[in-house]
Amino acid sequence: MVRFENVSKRYGALTVLDGLNLDVPRGEKVSVIGPSGSGKTTVLRMLMTLETINDGVIWVEGEPLTHMERNGKLVPADLAHIRKIRAKIGMVFQSFNLFPHMTAMQNCIEAPITVLGMKRAEAEERAAELLDMVGLSQKKGHYPSQLSGGQQQRVAIARALAMRPKIMLFDEVTSALDPELVGEVLEVIRKLGREHDLTMLMVTHQMGFAKEFSDRVCFFHAGKICEQGPPSELFGAPKNERTRQFLHAVL
Ligand code: ATP
Repeated sequence: MVRFENVSKRYGALTVLDGLNLDVPRGEKVSVIGPSGSGKTTVLRMLMTLETINDGVIWVEGEPLTHMERNGKLVPADLAHIRKIRAKIGMVFQSFNLFPHMTAMQNCIEAPITVLGMKRAEAEERAAELLDMVGLSQKKGHYPSQLSGGQQQRVAIARALAMRPKIMLFDEVTSALDPELVGEVLEVIRKLGREHDLTMLMVTHQMGFAKEFSDRVCFFHAGKICEQGPPSELFGAPKNERTRQFLHAVL
């Protein structure tokens, strides 16, 4: 479903991703953990093509995202190609990123209407279902400033789902929330995992959640996956000294 093949990203002399290889099959829930600056967020940003990569190829559902095939060769992708493949991916950011001048409902119908060409009535029906799913059916007409951080983040999740993605990326989605609001957002993600056939890639500092929710945990260090495995193994019996040190510091 998602494959990073020898992907590198550099900012000047700084190598942020260093020949990364990562395969995420359809439906798998993968948590990405690791120290600050290890390249976790960069992985998601590359997948959203928010930035270009320096080397390697990223694949989505068997098609290259960063490249396209021309005369049997892979050449850098043009914008139309990137947009087509990227439409399969939804992302939720740490800082909600809702449109402040739009209600929860308007936030959820904007892209389906303008990008997917959906009829307003259909977009509203779908948005209402999604807002209901995230427990906000009573808040459809509220603006972001009238919602708590947890509620805003749940609208952001509904908004991403409104584009019918096959892959969802979550970037530290609870980091900006007051502790008492973290649970409600994690519960929505749990529900998504149970009820929707989504591939999920999640950068998180919530080790308890990563342990309970993920099929696989990847520990990043210096732009590489240093260790990966089922949560029971990675948290229960980490093999790598760096993983052990990191878990010792955060748990
Ligand atoms: P955190 O847990 O603190 O969010 P992270 O593991 O997600 O960290 P990244 O955000 O992926 O780390 O950043 C990896 C490195 O790349 C950091 O050293 C960061 O300073 C650097 N970096 C990220 N974006 C840029 C940029 N636009 N220009 C220069 N350096 C950047």
